[in-house]
Amino acid sequence: MSEELKNKLFNNKENGWTNLSNETINEINNYSEKYMKFLNSAKTEREFIKQARKLADENGYKDIMEFETLKPGDKIYFINREKSMYLAIIGEEPIENGLHIIGSHIDSPRLDLKPNPLYEDTELAYLKTHYYGGIKKYQWTTIPLSMHGIIVKTNGEKIEINIGEDEKDPIFTITDLLPHLAQEQMEKKLKEGINGEDLNLLVGSMPYNSEKISENVKLNILNILNKKYGITEIDLNSSEIEIVPAFKARSLGFDESMVAAYGQDDKVCAYTSLSAMMKLKNVKNTAVCILSDKEEIGSMGNTGMESHMFDFFISEILNKLGINKPNLLDRVFCFSKMLSSDVDAGFDPIYSSVSDKTNAGYLGKGVTLNKYTGARGKSGASDANAEFVAWVRNVLEKNEIKYQLTELGKVDIGGGGTIAYILANKGADVIDCGIAVLSMHAPYEVTSKYDIYCAYKTYKAFWEE
Ligand code: MN
Ligand code: MN
Repeated sequence: MSEELKNKLFNNKENGWTNLSNETINEINNYSEKYMKFLNSAKTEREFIKQARKLADENGYKDIMEFETLKPGDKIYFINREKSMYLAIIGEEPIENGLHIIGSHIDSPRLDLKPNPLYEDTELAYLKTHYYGGIKKYQWTTIPLSMHGIIVKTNGEKIEINIGEDEKDPIFTITDLLPHLAQEQMEKKLKEGINGEDLNLLVGSMPYNSEKISENVKLNILNILNKKYGITEIDLNSSEIEIVPAFKARSLGFDESMVAAYGQDDKVCAYTSLSAMMKLKNVKNTAVCILSDKEEIGSMGNTGMESHMFDFFISEILNKLGINKPNLLDRVFCFSKMLSSDVDAGFDPIYSSVSDKTNAGYLGKGVTLNKYTGARGKSGASDANAEFVAWVRNVLEKNEIKYQLTELGKVDIGGGGTIAYILANKGADVIDCGIAVLSMHAPYEVTSKYDIYCAYKTYKAFWEE
């Protein structure tokens, strides 16, 4: 009797794996395989865009610049400087009724090479780095690292670098002190244990020849780079080279229920939304997928969400629909709905003290919805309206998708940011909707395959609404 009433009245956040059919479990596993494969070929924003473009082309999407005019059903994309991308399907409804936007980011914490990176010390060659985004520096030492990016010569020639992913490639690493000599280091606060200026990548130890000249090892490295890429040291001035973990995405656990991989913040939401968009046929409201850059460092710059590039893309759509007029862009945004698809802190029982158990996001319990993400008094938060939360809940419940309303950590501890506020400031209804992650921002992040599949279904349902 009370048991029945309890089931009826309580918000039972059940484990999503319970009572799943074998068929559904197979679907989840197959989807995760594709996701992991994609991640392995898309560790940086440029690589992600390359793969995303391939997928879009295969699915009938075309560069918006190829269109003179647009009509409902047209599938388009725009790539911004190889680092961010917007995709859309023109809806049946008049576009002034608003867009259905899903926005994620494809940049992840990492180490960038400095503009003058190469030096030699005591016959060892190193590349200096400047870390990108919020990292715990000690996590980036003594792990295999790979090198990805581009070097652009003054004549415009662009050289692509990808070293350390192929089994036959060498890898790189950052050394750390042996425990025997680390007494002083071990007394330091964790955040001071490794100095940012000491995150130097070990890249060589062999002199060019036996002649007694200075920086013989550095010379050897430059000679190798010159032979392989035709560059000299100064060409590194105009390069963007990212150092990321060389680990592959793998299934995690005896039950293989989780994914361990680098860069799941936020490529897990980017992939799930992108692949959901590829499955869309005709949509009522114009569906827009944002893959943005620079979220991890504040969304600034011309590839970040704060730039006007997104407005430009939507304006181009209005132009090519032949309906643009003053203030129409503002109107379109004001009537738009958006899921800011970004990862959430997963509840970690080993570090339970930082979370409020009643409002934490759990692995395997479906997508997480963050009504707000601000820290200590909701500072800086884009707080979704209750009406919009109810609208999103309705979409999820109609489609039988598990979800959890969550907060990122305890009131006076937590807080984070996403691109939610940027679109909310333009007038759209926005809520954060993503996936709980363990070890967020670490070289190896953990997610649940169940949640990944839920996110895919959520994004598809939102666009099909
Ligand atoms: Mn994120
Ligand atoms: Mn992040």
